[in-house]
Amino acid sequence: MRVTIYRPAGALLLPALLLAGCGGQDDAAAGGASAKQAAAAAPAGTDTSAGAAAAPASAANGGAVQPDGGPTSNLPPNELGRIMVLEYHRIGDNEGEWVRSRANFQKDLQTLYQKGYRPVTMRQMAEGNFDIPAGTTPVVFTIDDSSKGQFYYLPDGRIDPNTMVGMWDAFQKRNPGWRNGAVWCILPGATHPSNFWGEKPSKEIPREQREATIKKKMQYLVDNRHEICNHTMWHAQLVKYPDAFVQDQIGSGEDSIKAYLPADYDIVTFAIPLGLWPKNRGLTARGSYRNGKTYQNKVVLDVSGGPNVSPFDTRFKPLDVDRFIVAPGALERQLAAWDKNPGERFVSDGNPRTVSYPQRVADRLDRSKLGGRTARVVPDGAQASTQAPAPARGN
Ligand SMILES: [Zn+2]
Repeated sequence: MRVTIYRPAGALLLPALLLAGCGGQDDAAAGGASAKQAAAAAPAGTDTSAGAAAAPASAANGGAVQPDGGPTSNLPPNELGRIMVLEYHRIGDNEGEWVRSRANFQKDLQTLYQKGYRPVTMRQMAEGNFDIPAGTTPVVFTIDDSSKGQFYYLPDGRIDPNTMVGMWDAFQKRNPGWRNGAVWCILPGATHPSNFWGEKPSKEIPREQREATIKKKMQYLVDNRHEICNHTMWHAQLVKYPDAFVQDQIGSGEDSIKAYLPADYDIVTFAIPLGLWPKNRGLTARGSYRNGKTYQNKVVLDVSGGPNVSPFDTRFKPLDVDRFIVAPGALERQLAAWDKNPGERFVSDGNPRTVSYPQRVADRLDRSKLGGRTARVVPDGAQASTQAPAPARGN
């Protein structure tokens, strides 16, 4: 069968994006003194290498991931299908171009889970490490700009249940199959409240207290299978600046985030502010700054483009990953399109050691990306792709 490639209106949104900014944050609103403060807080070049998280393998069950009790589809495996890398910005009471309402965010979690989706991090996707049961589809949640509504602790020490992290945490507790975390793209040196999710500058509260809270937030995310991503120091429009400045925004941004992370944490994902690539695009992947310090990103997130190809696909470009902007109605339309035409959707075979796909897409397999996994052709899912998936099992 033919595989239709659904392209949502992401590209059309770009002009509005340039005007509106990414979550309302732009050069004018950010930087200055707070950027310097954050830079001062950064440690002296802690350059770690080699990512963790190899494909989990269990000898006892042949490497298969056990059912997690959550809903699955009855679709045949297609690990050369597409994966949505969702892009969220602010959260609020009302839906807007760059704001997801709380009610809709809750609905997104519920709907995706019910339709057999499971979260994975960008790191996992880039490494092809899909630790999700057979019949489920990975989805990556990327959440930009570290604004206050995303993650905040209440005075009594609880995570504010109305923040995105609070809602995620509650959903995960109710649905243990929703196991992994989201990807948080942080602006460490932006003006309050876009610095570390709304932490007040140290002028207003004692510096030690502020830093302890940021550390607590980062530790929570790391402990709960989320991923930390660099979004530059303060959201500079990289296209406007010379190479040295671009490298400093990326390198110092990473240092300022790492100051609050466990020493061995390796940041692999970088999100370009507003999708405005610097003139020298290669600087998003690697560069040097501040007298010879270096940085290297394994994944670069663009700002739009629709569902991304599989990491095992010849067209996969980890240094230019398409994202799906969760604009009003967009995710709903995409999910409906995949209900009608599920042949395009990545469906896991439940075994991180094998890559399974139907013959009709076999020419897209990039063997160099198998990394020790076994490629496996499965019966073509053409029949299943012409009908809606069966109602998901579980609750
Ligand atoms: Zn942004």
